[in-house]
Amino acid sequence: MMTPSAHQLGIEHDAPIDTWFHIGGRARMLARPESNDELIRCLEMDDQMRMLGEGANLLVDDDGVEGLVVSLQTGGFRTVEIDHACGLVRAGSGASLARVIAGCVNEGLGGLEMLTGIPATIGGAAVMNAGGAFGSFCDHLVEIEAMDRLGRVHRFARNEIDFDYRQSRLNHLIVLSALFELEQADPEQLKGERNRCMEYKSKTQPMSEKSAGCVFKNPVLAEDIEEIGSQGDRVSAGMLIDRAGCKRMRIGGAQVSSVHANFITTDQDAKARSVIELIGLVEQRVLDQFGLQLERELVIWSEHES
Ligand SMILES: Cc1cc2nc3c(=O)[nH]c(=O)nc-3n(C[C@H](O)[C@H](O)[C@H](O)COP(=O)(O)OP(=O)(O)OC[C@H]3O[C@@H](n4cnc5c(N)ncnc54)[C@H](O)[C@@H]3O)c2cc1C
Repeated sequence: MMTPSAHQLGIEHDAPIDTWFHIGGRARMLARPESNDELIRCLEMDDQMRMLGEGANLLVDDDGVEGLVVSLQTGGFRTVEIDHACGLVRAGSGASLARVIAGCVNEGLGGLEMLTGIPATIGGAAVMNAGGAFGSFCDHLVEIEAMDRLGRVHRFARNEIDFDYRQSRLNHLIVLSALFELEQADPEQLKGERNRCMEYKSKTQPMSEKSAGCVFKNPVLAEDIEEIGSQGDRVSAGMLIDRAGCKRMRIGGAQVSSVHANFITTDQDAKARSVIELIGLVEQRVLDQFGLQLERELVIWSEHES
């Protein structure tokens, strides 16, 4: 439900939505609240508002989106508090994960450095339970503070959130902050770990190209598949896409990466529609070849499809 209090919040109209793909449509309205009170006013305008992080796991359809888009990368939502003695770190939802990691490494607090190279805000990383070869967002998490769509603030302990591989129960909430408990460590050693993670990512993923990271989740096999894995194994979606012959497949300005087949990269003039069509084609090829329906990790904002 929408009420006409847009002007009070400094709403931007027909605003670009910044994503790592650097393509896609605009937001009819975009707000950058700086406090919980302003966030509640956003909810009063549109309780179905969409939350935007760094847009690193997001594709916006070419026509853009109706309704309100909200970014928390401003004001108090970016605050990071480090209690070195207790090893506790509270990071606001709009803080960049890279900045939080850098602060912790410099303070000699270890645990988050294994998430190096994942572009994210704290809010986006929490919702996606971002992670990789070296660990996941939830590993050192104590609690999440979040607002529900009625404007009520809650605190959830980690075990109440049902974190799983690239998912959480936070999707319908608005993440406000995350509290981590980290271990005292030598900053130089942590810097070494951080470099190791970054090196690994640079070698295995097309980090310098425009993408949204992995498009699909790595699936768990429902039955044995010859030369792929046994029932219950979680196997690499990139390997399946590659074996289905999709590497370098292209539609318009969108291409399945030659470095990592689970990444779709885009040219400057690519259309979001081309990415969506290419995703459909990859899904179909993997289904035809292995009888496996891939599940999307990428979030797509579209008025035409969910
Ligand atoms: C080059 C590259 C490499 C990547 N490598 C990895 C990797 O190794 N591992 C990995 O897990 N991911 C990876 N990704 C994907 C991406 O970095 C993660 O999914 C990240 O968590 C997205 O965070 P974000 O802030 O950009 O969220 P967005 O993409 O902006 O949003 C993602 C989802 O979170 C929701 N959301 C955002 N903020 C909030 C909030 N405050 N409250 C409620 N909901 C919110 C959005 O509505 C959306 O549904 C990569 C992406 C790129 C471009």
